[in-house]
Amino acid sequence: MRGIFLRCSINHRKIMAAFILFISRYLPLLAIFCLLLGNFSRLLAADPYAQKRQTMVEKDIKGRGVKDKKVLEVMGKIQRHLFVDEHLKEKAYADHPLPIGEGQTISQPYVVALMTEALRLKNTDRVLEIGTGSGYQAAVLAEIVKEVYTIEVRKSLTDMATKRLIDLGYRNVKVKHADGYFGWEEYAPFDAIIITAAANHIPPPLIKQLKEGGRLIVPLGSTVYYQVLTLATKKKGELSVEQMGSVAFVPMIGEVEKRR
Ligand code: SAH
Repeated sequence: MRGIFLRCSINHRKIMAAFILFISRYLPLLAIFCLLLGNFSRLLAADPYAQKRQTMVEKDIKGRGVKDKKVLEVMGKIQRHLFVDEHLKEKAYADHPLPIGEGQTISQPYVVALMTEALRLKNTDRVLEIGTGSGYQAAVLAEIVKEVYTIEVRKSLTDMATKRLIDLGYRNVKVKHADGYFGWEEYAPFDAIIITAAANHIPPPLIKQLKEGGRLIVPLGSTVYYQVLTLATKKKGELSVEQMGSVAFVPMIGEVEKRR
């Protein structure tokens, strides 16, 4: 009996010693592994659409020729699903526009990227947007430039976008409820202007509020069917115009409809 006890306790001691050796050797590794696993799952839980967003950037935006590093980075960062209704979240990264209420739409991701890239923005720029809609394009701009001024003609959309942009912490965006045809005189001139609704002509007040050398982009043409994405650069007070292909936007309303 004694012999057996003695052997057992010696075995126990050996096992304990081996265990302690194992733990002391591999504990730091184990701790790092657990930490990484925890962070990874937390990241996934906080942003369940990260993968979809990365695919959108690679396939639909980069894959179609958008090269601007900052634009790609920002489109890969902004949580587009936070700019649409709960029931549309799953479709937020799809390759098409989505309804945002009042018969209006948030533009297709590729078109947002294309228009933003065309403006050749710098981080010191001040930009005016006409057609705030969901606030997504304004957020994209706000991540790139110093100040963004955005005007929305529909009150309910203005209120929703204002709240959303504040909640998301965008302090460099000012939203106004008005007809964007007249621009925002108080903060003019702007380095760049983006009109995200179809217009049959470029509103003269916006040309006036564009800096010399400034860029303006607008879906120009029929407000019922298709438009030509048009990039205009102000040179010696005149606009030099470049056409970038056809697009389909919701119409700009208000003063623009009265004049041609
Ligand atoms: N940029 C938006 C999408 C724009 S949809 C986004 O990222 O979600 C076009 C928007 O232009 C609509 O919200 C519409 O109400 C607005 N709009 C139409 N005419 C306008 C005008 N005259 N002035 C300002 N906004 C206008």
